Amino acid sequence: VRRPLIAGNWKMNLLRAEARQLTRGVVAGAGRVPRDRDLLLLPPFTLLDAVGGELGSSGVRLGAQDLHWESAGAYTSGVSGPMLRDLGCEFVLVGHSERRTHFGDTGAALHRKLRAALSAGLRPIYCVGESLEEREAGRTWVVLRTQCDEVLRGLAPQAMAGLTLAYEPVWAIGTGRTATPEVAQEAHAFLRGSIAREWGDSVASEVRLLYGGSVTPESAAGLLDRPDIDGALVGGASLRAESFLGIAGAGASA
Ligand code: PEP
Repeated sequence: VRRPLIAGNWKMNLLRAEARQLTRGVVAGAGRVPRDRDLLLLPPFTLLDAVGGELGSSGVRLGAQDLHWESAGAYTSGVSGPMLRDLGCEFVLVGHSERRTHFGDTGAALHRKLRAALSAGLRPIYCVGESLEEREAGRTWVVLRTQCDEVLRGLAPQAMAGLTLAYEPVWAIGTGRTATPEVAQEAHAFLRGSIAREWGDSVASEVRLLYGGSVTPESAAGLLDRPDIDGALVGGASLRAESFLGIAGAGASA
């Protein structure tokens, strides 16, 4: 049984006082979210300490948006896995499309980052997704397969089973254009099928697959209802406690 995960990617937003206030709002409402769902906040590095302090023993998890592939050394501005663990992080994003586009993170670099996260005891959330041009050219499956192959290759089944994958079509991120539940489910089924072929059905059935791309409280229920969608990676809507919690509780009647 895969526990749904609702993760809030704050990107490069908020100062400490704002972050504390938002975190308090999330913690205050977390009790209304069904117990079988995990909540996760992914603030920028500068806010991890403050947010972690507010989260305390609330059960809401803490994670970071990126990490360096080495654990320490002469890498000015780098932030390593052990440093994130030291701040109380449990999760870390790897390969967000904004990292690929604006910071030039390549498949080879992301492979090293994923390995570094695992060695530091962090739980990576590896992000994949096609651009609009790639989708329109009928290349979606090739792109997803390549992004998985170059970064996940050689991963032991146990590590793979513990991994979270986020399907984030680039055309849906920050655009207000959410993928329909059908389009998202099709991609998730493709990803789970690819994992099954490489690592077997049992591993594939354990991997958590999140959808990300302009998720709102209104669109969340339809997405979370699909069999291969195990949660959401939320950008814009995670910057307000009310909308983040609305997504986290969406469609949870059962
Ligand atoms: C994201 O940052 O991963 C994301 C999906 O952003 P948004 O929800 O704003 O599209």
